[in-house]
Amino acid sequence: MQYISFNVPPYTGGEENYIKQAIQAKKISGGGEFTKKCADRLEKMTGCENVLITTSGTAALEMSAILAEIKPGDEVIMPSYTFVSTANAFALRGAKIVFVDIRPDTMNIDEKLIENAVTEKTKAIVPVHYGGVACEMDVIRDIAKRKNICVIEDAAQGVNAFYKGKALGSIGDFGCFSFHETKNYSSGEGGAVLINNEKDVERAEIIIEKGTNRSKFFRGQVDKYTWVDIGSSYLQSEINCAYLYAQIENPEIINNDRMRSWNLYNELLKPLADKGVIELPYIPEECTHNAHIYYIKTKDLAERTKLIEHMKANNILAVFHYIPLHSSPAGKKFGRFFGEDKYTTKESERLLRLPMYYGLKENEIKYIVKMIYRFFDL
Ligand SMILES: *Cc1c(COP(=O)(O)O)cnc(C)c1O
Repeated sequence: MQYISFNVPPYTGGEENYIKQAIQAKKISGGGEFTKKCADRLEKMTGCENVLITTSGTAALEMSAILAEIKPGDEVIMPSYTFVSTANAFALRGAKIVFVDIRPDTMNIDEKLIENAVTEKTKAIVPVHYGGVACEMDVIRDIAKRKNICVIEDAAQGVNAFYKGKALGSIGDFGCFSFHETKNYSSGEGGAVLINNEKDVERAEIIIEKGTNRSKFFRGQVDKYTWVDIGSSYLQSEINCAYLYAQIENPEIINNDRMRSWNLYNELLKPLADKGVIELPYIPEECTHNAHIYYIKTKDLAERTKLIEHMKANNILAVFHYIPLHSSPAGKKFGRFFGEDKYTTKESERLLRLPMYYGLKENEIKYIVKMIYRFFDL
């Protein structure tokens, strides 16, 4: 079998044509036809009325932190099992990060632990929808409402995934998508911020335009534009939007293909799970996921290390995921772990992600699964 990589950037075939159109329209910076097309499409997909396309998921998180008016001394609650950008966006504003343990079944923040972690300084909760599987948003929203705290969804992995029929990213005050090349839909680097309250839209348009009222100027609402607030270069280019639009124009092409792969893994590996050799992902009933990740869990770290080696020796790249942030140098500096780390470290050490991308072939999945069975002598 040929080498099977862990990820291949999504490419569906229409990308070049749209990039060419952007070039011919002589509009390659942000704010053109494809930027608008992507925003409209994402608004339809999510039900959120105000989607802004950003240069990255990181930028979307940074914009949310500014919009939520996070200030030095504020506390922000999130899981430790996440990507650095989730925490960095708030550390950049001077906030203290409060890490809460995860649920071992979904690897998402344990909603039952959040309320006790809330203090007078808590300004935001940042649920991360791991692998496109939703956090318990009803519980999180209820806490936020009672305590008057902002909810910022890190839905970087959750594009086209749902919780009780609601699109991830559209449930909290702000939602953040990523279109990095490792995500389901991509523009190389890219992201989007979902502004779920009308009151935040005007300021979001300023922040994305480097702190200027340039959007208003283009709409003819002011006769010149000027510096009015803080902001940065968060507006995505037309070239990247053109690439992305080819993929989200009909998002089910990628979604169906990934779901097929995910379900095949799950079906073929079930006997191993039934024997208690490995654990498989759990999808709560209220969640519609998007096959962003397919992972298995081994007995422990030592077994996972051996399995990674075994897969590599058989030309398959399987990879672990986050090193918990609270154990990192910056995590120690900018954050603290609330309560006991019962699952974050332990579960992250057992988790192994299998190859998963648009276009992964059935015979490749069968070969990957066969190699896993062989590792366990089954
Ligand atoms: C990918 C990812 C990000 C960052 O997105 P970029 O587009 O790479 O900046 C943030 N949070 C999570 C959970 C992610 O998976």
